[in-house]
Amino acid sequence: MADAVPDFPARPDPPLPLGISDCLLGHEVRYDGSGARSSFPHAALEGLYTFEGFCPEVGIGMPVPRPPIRLVERAGIRAVGVKDSEADYTDALAGYARETAPTLGHLAGYVLMKSSPSCGLERVKVYPELDDGTVGAPSRRGTGIFAGVLAEMLPDLPLEECGRLNDEVLRENFVTRTFAYAHWQTLIREGLTAARLIEFHSRYKYLLMAHSVPAYQQTGRLLANLKSDLPGIAGRYISLLMQGLARPASRGGHANVLAHLQGYLKRVLDAPSRQELAELISAYRRGEQPLLAPLAVLRHHLGRHPDTYVLYQTYLDPHPSTAALRRRL
Ligand code: SF4
Repeated sequence: MADAVPDFPARPDPPLPLGISDCLLGHEVRYDGSGARSSFPHAALEGLYTFEGFCPEVGIGMPVPRPPIRLVERAGIRAVGVKDSEADYTDALAGYARETAPTLGHLAGYVLMKSSPSCGLERVKVYPELDDGTVGAPSRRGTGIFAGVLAEMLPDLPLEECGRLNDEVLRENFVTRTFAYAHWQTLIREGLTAARLIEFHSRYKYLLMAHSVPAYQQTGRLLANLKSDLPGIAGRYISLLMQGLARPASRGGHANVLAHLQGYLKRVLDAPSRQELAELISAYRRGEQPLLAPLAVLRHHLGRHPDTYVLYQTYLDPHPSTAALRRRL
């Protein structure tokens, strides 16, 4: 295929660099001296990533093994010792995150250990401190101190918890986000221009549409005028794209995009072929076919009737493991 924008940066090939809670690599850094390799689906993501492990608790100088900590509500949420609640690690953990985040600009994503008062992304237990200094029953509404600062300082970086990656839909979604983000980073590194931004969007628009029609519409409006503040517009664009992609695509979203892509072939397909593809898309929408079924037929027709615009759509190929990771969608 000829490049629509001749020097348009290619999406990087795997493996992409991924940050990860160090215990998920099997390193024995947990409070009790254990690792947690089995909590992360290494086999399902084999070949896609290289990993850079960080343990914030070890990073602030806590030993292994060490007394466990937890989140307590005490004039805000604090990370304190379970046995010694006067031992407050909040500021040290937040400081470590603030020092680390600026060094992570090369990462395509970050996987965090669930439930941890340092690394947990959501639903971490928070214990209310009572007047007598003891704690009440916890509620699952907290974010680990390190994870919270990371999310704040790197809002576009794809983040996910290890437990959610055992779900095939959420796993495919995370992989999609990391490859989109890595592609964007490459474009920024190689030089942002208005033409490259438009080309990037034209390749990702149907992928975004499958995940979020409102985000798709917002990005279209945002890029309608690129005459001033290109870096500012690009910053808002990637935020909208990453927020939109963070919503897993529904069957309705996929079917909508498939119908749009089918439209590009309507003049070259005969009536029975159009009918067959339309029926497959409907069967997929009803849950009677996997996504790969209409995609395979669409690809077959594109092979016989190449359409550069459609073939460049990232939707058809959001990551290098498309067939394996999309088989349950
Ligand atoms: S969850 Fe985070 S802080 Fe706890 S052991 Fe793992 S990497 Fe270290």
